[in-house]
Amino acid sequence: MADLSTNVRFIKGIGEQRAKALEKLGIETLRDLIGWFPRKYDDRTETKRIADLAPGETACVEAMVATEPRLSHIRKGMDLVKLRAVDESGVLDVTFFNQTWLKNNLHVGETYIFYGKAEGNLLRKTMASPVVEHESRREVTGRIVPIYPLTAGVSQLILSRSIRQGLDQCADILPDALPDEVRQAHNLCRIGYAYENIHFPESPEALDLSRRRLAFEELFLFTLGLKRMRTHRETVSVPPCKAVDMGEFYAALPFTLTDAQRRCIDEAIADMRSGTPMTRLCQGDVGSGKTMVAAACAYFCVKNGRQAALMAPTEILAQQHYAGLAPLLEKLGVRCALLTGSTTAKTKRSITAQLAEGDIDFAIGTHALISGGVEFRDLGLVVTDEQHRFGVAQRSDLAAKGQHPHVLVMSATPIPRTLALILYGDLDVSIIDQLPPGREPVDTFAVPGSYHPRLYAFIRKLVAEGRQAYIVCPMVEENDELPDERKAVTAYAKMLQQEVFPDLKVAYVHGKMKAREKDAVMSAFAAGESHILVSTTVIEVGVDVPNAAVMVIENAERFGLSQLHQLRGRVGRGKHKSYCVLVSDNQNEETRQRIKVMTKTTDGFKIAEEDLRLRGPGDFFGQRQHGLPGLRIADIGCDTLLLREAQEAAEQLLERDPELVTCPATAQRLRELFTLKESTLN
Ligand code: ADP
Ligand code: MG
Repeated sequence: MADLSTNVRFIKGIGEQRAKALEKLGIETLRDLIGWFPRKYDDRTETKRIADLAPGETACVEAMVATEPRLSHIRKGMDLVKLRAVDESGVLDVTFFNQTWLKNNLHVGETYIFYGKAEGNLLRKTMASPVVEHESRREVTGRIVPIYPLTAGVSQLILSRSIRQGLDQCADILPDALPDEVRQAHNLCRIGYAYENIHFPESPEALDLSRRRLAFEELFLFTLGLKRMRTHRETVSVPPCKAVDMGEFYAALPFTLTDAQRRCIDEAIADMRSGTPMTRLCQGDVGSGKTMVAAACAYFCVKNGRQAALMAPTEILAQQHYAGLAPLLEKLGVRCALLTGSTTAKTKRSITAQLAEGDIDFAIGTHALISGGVEFRDLGLVVTDEQHRFGVAQRSDLAAKGQHPHVLVMSATPIPRTLALILYGDLDVSIIDQLPPGREPVDTFAVPGSYHPRLYAFIRKLVAEGRQAYIVCPMVEENDELPDERKAVTAYAKMLQQEVFPDLKVAYVHGKMKAREKDAVMSAFAAGESHILVSTTVIEVGVDVPNAAVMVIENAERFGLSQLHQLRGRVGRGKHKSYCVLVSDNQNEETRQRIKVMTKTTDGFKIAEEDLRLRGPGDFFGQRQHGLPGLRIADIGCDTLLLREAQEAAEQLLERDPELVTCPATAQRLRELFTLKESTLN
């Protein structure tokens, strides 16, 4: 019997090679493997007669191969295998692209199941690249089939077979993190049943039961973890900071802070003076001026004789902060330094030494700040910018460099307050709900794809006026595979450069580039060395290029409201009139509504509320965004009732048994999920 921490390579039937492939998905242990939940399901239970297939309909067909499969090369890199299949009702012409091996694997006279989308008319039915398997060996048809998130080199079949092997190894030993009485009180199925049916659902009902149980478990553990962290934190005490005359700082600023900024600063200062470590989330819409809140807190901390650090998720953001803050703070006697991945070894050595000696008061940087060898003499405050880009681990690694430093987390993802309280249950929340005066709202337009010529002419006109443009690249999702952003971005940029803007400089950036390459492209764009930047959503966060005056978002229907809003926030940051153009041909009702919200308002919190109303908060609660463990199945928006149930159950359990002595499996699971945080976020 395997332990859940067993490496997948030791699981029967998986082996070295598959384990390597799985590793690319971050699947290393048996626990990771069975916890790799499907992204969606295909209901392939329905089998239709060929004659009954409506054009456009997706279904299984059970049909006999009637003609020898024919292979043809239509051009380089494109091979077709064609055949005709029949059932008692009709004829189906099937084409496979680039699956030449099928020529020898499909035999005349034998019956296969074809699952795919039917096309053609009533007389002639066709299917392109259906899923196919022999009628006697049905694995991926005739049932509800899980569709997993994938990466190159791992197919659906490999994953589902591996998960099958994994489940067979551990079905009987799965520890149940839900105490029995909780499970029974809430009518939840057993853990083994849940894992089995979340991957290989027997029926839609079994899938529902399993999903409900696993979602409940996540929410339950999540609540327990947050509550315990808060309790734990409240027991820590640190020497309270003394009052500081902030007047000097405010007087040095080139502008007056907004009331909202002042309130956030006051709240943070009150925390730091309280005697318990601050753990505060400062939330403010794009452009609301969070950086100055960070600067004020750093100033306060340094005037208390301690050091402060500001960590940004990218090199360019770190540089931006340093360039903006260092001149201001140095004047006030705060010694600043910039430390990023591209800091030379020599400079880094000198900065590290000064940090350890206490000769630098305020370190601004990237994750280089948390690398080994960086020590602070007395780190009193840690600020992380755009926090959802950091995992919990990174945030806490930085905090671990001090003795219970105060922690201030900045986020530009506007989250309605009620949700923020759930999501950041362990943090205090300040909201900057006001923009600096004099901002002109970005004009937002929605256009169909046929407007491209006009759109390009518009970009050209703005560039002639000295402005720059962002274009968020279109992306096609290829079947079940993840879209290849690299290909999409480079191809689109190349087309624009060669065919549309041969006389301008078109640059591009995508998430698959190395951090350093990415930052180089971004810096060049910030310096005005390129006119048009084609990109994926990697530019969604924080980047401040005030000269960029237009943001074009292709396939706007593919983005959630919050994401559209973040993207739009990249323009309208300077004195130039700015525009956002949403390009979309796919105008279903939902898209239309979303786009209407975008053209109607620029208020991030209003947009967040609308987003929540339109489609639930999936967007806010992705693991990546909150950096908290555990929520991979539950959706706090759709599962609000379940959340309340789980919260109540967690509270009752803690009242009964605060140390969780009666449910060791629960305690153990919590330790696995929350260790990093518990030990370091105070
Ligand atoms: P974000 O909240 O998106 O991080 P920033 O801190 O980058 O916003 O601020 C956006 C811009 O607004 C910066 O150029 C900053 O200097 C400016 N700014 C910040 N606060 C004020 C203010 N109170 N009045 C005028 N401009 C401000
Ligand atoms: Mg910012």
